[in-house]
Amino acid sequence: MIFLSKKNLFLAFIPLFLLTFLVSNSMNDDTLSGKVIIVDAGHGGVDSGANRPGILEKDINLAVAILVKNNLEHHQAKVILSRTVDSDLSDDCDNQLIQGRWRRDLAARVELVEEHQADLFISIHANVSPSPKSQGAEVFYAAQSSQSKLLADQLQKALNALKKATRKATKADYFVLRRNTVPTALIELGYLTNPKEKELLLDPHYQYELSDAIVQGILNYYMNNPS
Ligand SMILES: [Zn+2]
Repeated sequence: MIFLSKKNLFLAFIPLFLLTFLVSNSMNDDTLSGKVIIVDAGHGGVDSGANRPGILEKDINLAVAILVKNNLEHHQAKVILSRTVDSDLSDDCDNQLIQGRWRRDLAARVELVEEHQADLFISIHANVSPSPKSQGAEVFYAAQSSQSKLLADQLQKALNALKKATRKATKADYFVLRRNTVPTALIELGYLTNPKEKELLLDPHYQYELSDAIVQGILNYYMNNPS
C-alpha cells in the first residue's frame, strides 16, 4: 500500500477533478434542450437498401443512427429513431390513401414529425456507385426549403472534415426531403463500393466519428440559426 502525503493526495486528485469536470460538461451540455429530432435509419426489414457481399446498407444506417441518438441526447435533445430494429415501417403508415409498401414505409417516417411535433429530421443512408473510386459523405436537401439548405450545409461541412473533403450539400427530390415540413437533410455516409470506405463504414470507431460529425453539424446549424 502507498501512503500519500496530504499535498500529494491533493495533486493526485486534480486530474480526476479535471476529467470529471470535462466529462460532465460535455455530457450535460443543454444546447439542444427542448429540440425534438427524428433520426431516420434508412431502409430496414425486407428492404436492405444498397448491398454488397457481407454488407447491408440498412445495418450500417441503424448502427450510426443509434450513435447519433445517444450523442444528441448528451446535448439534451429529445430523439426519436424511426426504427430501433431491423424492420420496415410500411405497417405504421396512417394514411390509407398511400399505396405500396415502399411509399407507405417512407410516408410512415415522415408521419413521425407530426406525431412527435419534431423540429428536425435527419435521414441516414449509405451509397453505392459504378465507380469504386467514389467516396465520402454527401448531404442532400429539398430545393424549396432554405432552412434545410442551411442544415445540410452545416452537416456537409462537419462530415467533410473527416476526409478533408470540399464537397457542397446538394439539392435532391427524395420522398422524405420533399414531404417533410421541418428542416430535413438526407445523409449518404459513404460508398459501399469503395473498398477502403466499405471497411471504414463497418468499423465502429469510424461509425462513431460519423455520428460525432452529424451531431456537430446539427449543433452548428442551431448556433448559426438561433430560433
Ligand atoms: Zn439508402
